Amino acid sequence: MKLTATVKLQPDPEQREFLRETMERANALCNAVSDHAWASKQFGRFQLQRATYHAAKNTSGLSAQVIIRCIAKVSDAYKQDKKVQRVFRSLGAIAYDDRILRWQEGRVSIWTTGGRQWIPFVCGDHARKLLASRRGETDLFVRNGQWFLTFTANIEVPALETPEDFIGVDLGIVNLAATSDGEIVSGAQVNGLRVRHERLRKRLQAKGTRGAKRRLKKRSRKQHRSQQHTNHRIAKQLVAVAQGTGRGIALEDLKGIRDRVSAPKRQRSRHGNWGFAQLRHYIAYKAALAGVPVVLVDPRNTSRMCPECGAVDEANRVSQSRFSCQSCGHSGLADLVAAENIRRAAVNRPYCPDANTLLAAPGQSSCL
Ligand SMILES: [Zn+2]
Repeated sequence: MKLTATVKLQPDPEQREFLRETMERANALCNAVSDHAWASKQFGRFQLQRATYHAAKNTSGLSAQVIIRCIAKVSDAYKQDKKVQRVFRSLGAIAYDDRILRWQEGRVSIWTTGGRQWIPFVCGDHARKLLASRRGETDLFVRNGQWFLTFTANIEVPALETPEDFIGVDLGIVNLAATSDGEIVSGAQVNGLRVRHERLRKRLQAKGTRGAKRRLKKRSRKQHRSQQHTNHRIAKQLVAVAQGTGRGIALEDLKGIRDRVSAPKRQRSRHGNWGFAQLRHYIAYKAALAGVPVVLVDPRNTSRMCPECGAVDEANRVSQSRFSCQSCGHSGLADLVAAENIRRAAVNRPYCPDANTLLAAPGQSSCL
């Protein structure tokens, strides 16, 4: 399983300048290569390499590996679309080959136009664990004057045993998560932030000034981080309980939604909510790392079936939050009933055995 993680570099002022110069030169080279590609209509990596490498080696002051990565970046950019000439931002991310990076405890040796530099870095536990299984390319990028490296790690996923029981998890917006164990994580805080953010966005967009845009961007990132943090916490807790009790995790399969009649509103509010997609993704990858199986179940009757008597009736869901069975009178919180239905569906028969689709980053998978 491929995972990415980021470390924050702590360059001294001189190293900061070296990094900036390296990045600017690399992107200037990308633009020069792009000019050539556009003029000659040659977009293949090796064609471009043959045509531009030697000149670049003589004039750019960049190392061979960086030049190769720049040429590849240009070629890749044209792979998506050859209709417009590609232009690269002077401080756009650049790729480093593992051959020109050397990692040690707390510092990394990185090639710059000022020579090789040992630069200290800081990172979280997640990134530290993944550093050992780093593979391939690393991206250098800068944001708000801070420098970062993002790397990819290839993780061995432990073999999964088929569990006898599952934790059914209903994910949503009003409640971020409800489980068949009876736990509920309210979305009130996250949603409150989002509503406040939306209001602010409308106000600042009306204003339209540069200062307003900057403030909006800052607030937007803050809101993003806050929900990301919440999602990590929920996923971590859920996977820990599943692992500790030898159970799997069951989620609704959202790819083949056939339930468009019974729950269109529910789907609409979840669809396009990045936080919702992210939480599914976090649960999937943390579960994979912990060896906890995740299965996807048919979502058709999740919100309208009675877990006591099995009656399926749209009227069972009496309101957004309440479930009350029209046949046997069983009632409860709608999201907890849904979670229990998801659990039962998983115990009976997983509908979509390939939960690996969830491991793709949010937005890349139609299963989300
Ligand atoms: Zn019933």
